[in-house]
Amino acid sequence: MNEGKNISRRDFLKRIGLASVALTGCGKATETTNTANNTTTVVGETKAEDMTYRINPTTGDKVSLLGFGCMRWPTGSDGEIDQEMVNKLVDYAIEHGVNYFDTSPAYCKGKSEAATGIALKRHDRSKYYIATKLSNFGEQVWSTEESLAMYENSFKELQVDYIDYMLLHGVGMGGMENLRKRYLDNGILDHLLKERKKGRIRNLGFSYHGDIEVFDYLLSQHDKYKWDFVQIQLNYVDWKHAKATNRRNTDAEYLYNELQKRGIPAVIMEPLLGGRLSKVHDHIAQSLKERDPERSIASWAFRYAGTFEGVLTVLSGMTYMEHLKDNLVSYAPLKPLTADDLEFLEKVAEEMVTYKTIPCNDCKYCMPCPYGIDIPANLLHYNKIVNAGMMPDENAGTEEYQKNRRIFLVGYDRSVPKLRQASHCIGCGICKPHCPQRIDIPRELARIDIFVEHLKRNKNKKA
Ligand code: SF4
Ligand code: SF4
Repeated sequence: MNEGKNISRRDFLKRIGLASVALTGCGKATETTNTANNTTTVVGETKAEDMTYRINPTTGDKVSLLGFGCMRWPTGSDGEIDQEMVNKLVDYAIEHGVNYFDTSPAYCKGKSEAATGIALKRHDRSKYYIATKLSNFGEQVWSTEESLAMYENSFKELQVDYIDYMLLHGVGMGGMENLRKRYLDNGILDHLLKERKKGRIRNLGFSYHGDIEVFDYLLSQHDKYKWDFVQIQLNYVDWKHAKATNRRNTDAEYLYNELQKRGIPAVIMEPLLGGRLSKVHDHIAQSLKERDPERSIASWAFRYAGTFEGVLTVLSGMTYMEHLKDNLVSYAPLKPLTADDLEFLEKVAEEMVTYKTIPCNDCKYCMPCPYGIDIPANLLHYNKIVNAGMMPDENAGTEEYQKNRRIFLVGYDRSVPKLRQASHCIGCGICKPHCPQRIDIPRELARIDIFVEHLKRNKNKKA
């Protein structure tokens, strides 16, 4: 166990199996996440006493409905985490009633835990809850020894002697076999259960992505494991249309109800569907604003996730102070959505799934591409045009087609440097297994490339 204590950053990344795969990036690269796009961000002063809290039935923890996701800490011009800004964000969050901070050894190129630990250490330990994960994704860290080293390292990075919420990270990716290798066969889950008994872990749960067989299996073992919480993806599109956003996902309605049946609190991730619910199609943005002109587009998604009673906290990766302030308005206090609002959002969701965007949430797990392609920038430019209702349509009038064609091509060159565009993808497929959204990246890039070439060829005519 002590092995994990004296390793270099590079060694550590190698050991946790994340040196060779893309890590969740921080700061500038994720600027778009959680922005209340298409509308003014609502910034208002809120008070700590107005924060909505939920009670954890196992430990009685009073948890703020807004949870701080620490996967997108701001970075400076050198690409390193801007600790001063992290401290400011954490201070402001705590002063305004936020008390749940969710990190992982995998976030911010392996540096999130340390930055989070530095910022939180400056506060009274009884005033906040730390959630972190056993993120042993790579095969090289599946052994008992390596996984234990990773677990112990989290205490060191976070500068704590107990962890409030510990998760098996991203179970479901890679199916049952992956679960067995990462947590069951190596005895790690048994170890974590013992750690919970000792009090070094106060709550034990898992975050779920992917294969529903794994989710069902782990819940079927609830009598044995006594899950204190489970982290799931829930938002108003995934509630009933998860397969439309990602064909292998399971509807959040099913996941939430399975937890509710067993009285297990849900921690919510992706309330904004990877930022897509803050950057909706212009037409949808207009109808959301008409319904409540005072609130941001993003706030609808946050209020939606918070309206469910069994939800303990809703995570948001907040890089900028304006994100934090906007989310505080949504939860301090929560004004739950009415039955009418829910019905309205279901109609919005039905409409949204008819817009053919690519389900990229800019997580950057697929990066870096060894051939230099900026994968998310390519996919996001395409989505931006779809959402703006500006896809060049050959069936539209010539003028309209030519206008949108120019917008697409000029915007593409501005958003993605030439050498990083889809045309340079060789289709090697290295990136594909890293995408939690299961996007067939080489296929989508080839599609974009063909589309761009087609637009370039059709310069002076309506096709
Ligand atoms: S398939 Fe394309 S984008 Fe993916 S790693 Fe290979 S070259 Fe890069
Ligand atoms: S393509 Fe997949 S892995 Fe890459 S940024 Fe988008 S969602 Fe993340």
